[in-house]
Amino acid sequence: MRKSFVAGNWKMNTDVHSSVKLAQGVVSGCKDVVGKVDVAVCPPFVYLQQVGAALQSSHIALGSQDVYFEQKGAFTGEISSAMLKDVGCAYAICGHSERRHVIGETDELINKKVHAAILGGLLPILCVGELIEERKANKTAEVVTRQMKKGLAGLTPEKMSAVTIAYEPVWAIGTGLTATPQQAQEVHAMIRKLLAEMYDRKIAGEIRIQYGGSAKPDNAGELMQEEDVDGLLVGGASLKADDFVAIVKASV
Ligand code: PEP
Repeated sequence: MRKSFVAGNWKMNTDVHSSVKLAQGVVSGCKDVVGKVDVAVCPPFVYLQQVGAALQSSHIALGSQDVYFEQKGAFTGEISSAMLKDVGCAYAICGHSERRHVIGETDELINKKVHAAILGGLLPILCVGELIEERKANKTAEVVTRQMKKGLAGLTPEKMSAVTIAYEPVWAIGTGLTATPQQAQEVHAMIRKLLAEMYDRKIAGEIRIQYGGSAKPDNAGELMQEEDVDGLLVGGASLKADDFVAIVKASV
């Protein structure tokens, strides 16, 4: 039985004060679902420490929005997994669509980040998902398969237990267009079948696959009803504590 996992990706939002307030709102709102669902928030790097302090002695985990693959050295502006671990991160998002399509990250770079995250003791959330043109051209399965195979290249079965997959159709991210539960389930089932081929059925059955793309309090419950939807990666709606908490509660 896979435990639901909901993560909030705050992207490049909040400030010192509002990041702490948001974290406090999530902590107090999630009190009555402690233990029933895994929850993480991923603030901007610069607020990780104060958000981490606000999460202290709660069951809400801290995550980063990205990680660099080198451990230390002359990599101006980058942040290593050791640094993220040092400030209390448990998770690291790898290959978010904005990093793929705005910043230009490749599958090969993302694969290095997934490896570095695990090496540094972090749990990577590998994001995959197709562009609208790719969906219209019936290339969703092809694109997601490529992103999965390249993103997970070289990961042993043991290391796979650290990984969460987030299926995030790019056309649904921040657009208000949510995939229907059936569209999400179709791709999630395909991903799980692929994991069984790449590893085995046991591993495929254990890996959590989140859906991401305009998840909101009013659609979270129906998405979570789907057999292979094990949680949600939430962008916009994670910036309001009440909305995020409602999504978490709908995911129990
Ligand atoms: C995301 O950024 O991962 C995301 C799913 O964003 P939104 O919920 O705003 O679509």
